[in-house]
Amino acid sequence: MKFHILLLNILLFSFLACSSPYQNNVTFENERIELLEIDTSWQDKIIKPNSYWKKKLTKTQYSILREKDTEAPFNHVYNSNKKAGLYLCAGCDNPLFTSSTKFNSGTGWPSFWDPYFGKSVLIGADNSLGMSRDEVVCARCDGHLGHVFSDGPKPTGLRYCMNGESLKFVGENNSERVVFAQGCFWCVEEIFEVLNGVDNVVSGYAGGTEENPSYKQVGSGSTSHAEAIEISYNPDKISYEELLKVYFNAGDITQVNGQGNDRGTQYRSILFYNNAEQKQQIDNYIKMLENSGKYNKKIAVEVLPASKFYIAEKYHQNYVKLNPNQGYVRSVSIPRYEKAIKNFPELLK
Ligand SMILES: [Zn+2]
Repeated sequence: MKFHILLLNILLFSFLACSSPYQNNVTFENERIELLEIDTSWQDKIIKPNSYWKKKLTKTQYSILREKDTEAPFNHVYNSNKKAGLYLCAGCDNPLFTSSTKFNSGTGWPSFWDPYFGKSVLIGADNSLGMSRDEVVCARCDGHLGHVFSDGPKPTGLRYCMNGESLKFVGENNSERVVFAQGCFWCVEEIFEVLNGVDNVVSGYAGGTEENPSYKQVGSGSTSHAEAIEISYNPDKISYEELLKVYFNAGDITQVNGQGNDRGTQYRSILFYNNAEQKQQIDNYIKMLENSGKYNKKIAVEVLPASKFYIAEKYHQNYVKLNPNQGYVRSVSIPRYEKAIKNFPELLK
């Protein structure tokens, strides 16, 4: 039952995000919170006899979830799954991880750097196989999921090494997310919003280590974050390479730690990649630009693995559309937007 509620909610969330991106000031933030509230309301643990699990699970799932078996590496489709969505417990549908914290660890098992919420997983000691490891189990049904190691990426430094068979993926409608930074997020959000195949763009902060940064902190340059945008797009309609094309034609990509008159590390340019394939595409694109002879300075875009994206305060979302007469918007954002979209007319909605 809960599975259906979750699915319905994700569909509703997609609909809201697509149909009224700014009129009601609906943002991903609200929808995420709703998703979180609905799906994390359980109180009771699920304690069932083995006969129940034998009936409910496949043989492989049973051997992993209930008997702590481990699947062969590079064997499960979730290992290379790059789609946006949630990973639930295959035994009880408890939400365990989101795609936004998934990374390619190279181990052959689906890897994440942070659980979905406080009641996703529990950690216990596992001294089997002559090793001392931290076992990860589902906090609701105690099903064995995998282990956690302290060699993961920032910001947690953890690697939750999961068995794909322990998980159940629930994806959004063919949707992927990427995070880009290129100066003031008001401007960049507006540029990417008008692309065909882009469902939503959210302004926020990324690239730093401080948790839950505010605009005041980031804007004043007192954090290591940069203003950034998270783009949700349909890869069937716009490719990652096309997004890169827009990015490299949307601002001054040679400016170090700034964009125009906005100067400071909070305005630096960063491309966050979700996987090795994206990194390769970025590297190739930069090499192509450097070899083009078009730039007399080095490309100043940082290329970093995806890290946690913090959604900015509500009043920053769709700022240009909602505040067309604001001074900065008139003198900086709109001219920048108009200049940028001339570079890729074929990609516009
Ligand atoms: Zn479970």
